[in-house]
Amino acid sequence: MEFRIGQGYDVHALADGLPMWLGGIQIPSQTGFVAHSDGDVAIHALCDALLGALALGDIGHLFPDTDDRWKGVDSKELLTAVLGLPEMRGWSVVNADITIALQAPKLAPHILAMRDTLARVMGISPDRVSVKATTTEHLGFVGRREGCEVWAIVLIERK
Ligand code: MG
Repeated sequence: MEFRIGQGYDVHALADGLPMWLGGIQIPSQTGFVAHSDGDVAIHALCDALLGALALGDIGHLFPDTDDRWKGVDSKELLTAVLGLPEMRGWSVVNADITIALQAPKLAPHILAMRDTLARVMGISPDRVSVKATTTEHLGFVGRREGCEVWAIVLIERK
């Protein structure tokens, strides 16, 4: 049996009046993420973790923000595209673990929907997808509500 592990990290800035897409769902919020895509920082970290597991670079390289094809794109499509890469075909996702640092709004009511959505896109059961959320106790750029940062780790197994 052959396994690979990958980790991903992403940050997006927050601004008033933008939709907040996170973990594949829209979160009711006064602020949303500034981005070329829909700004789903959790999916971007997850994509980078998957790419990292196979040393395939990063999503900035794969989907450059200078390319209008990805303008406003639903990040679930980016995740599907990463999983559909020829190099990814011989592998299946064992599990993913995602940690989101966001000061507000509280994400607890949305964790299950994020897990379900990400699991559906990846074609695995929700018990293999962990989404955890934390504030930073008002410290740093996350604490000042200037942005959100996300870490993701995935394990993949050769089919
Ligand atoms: Mg990003």
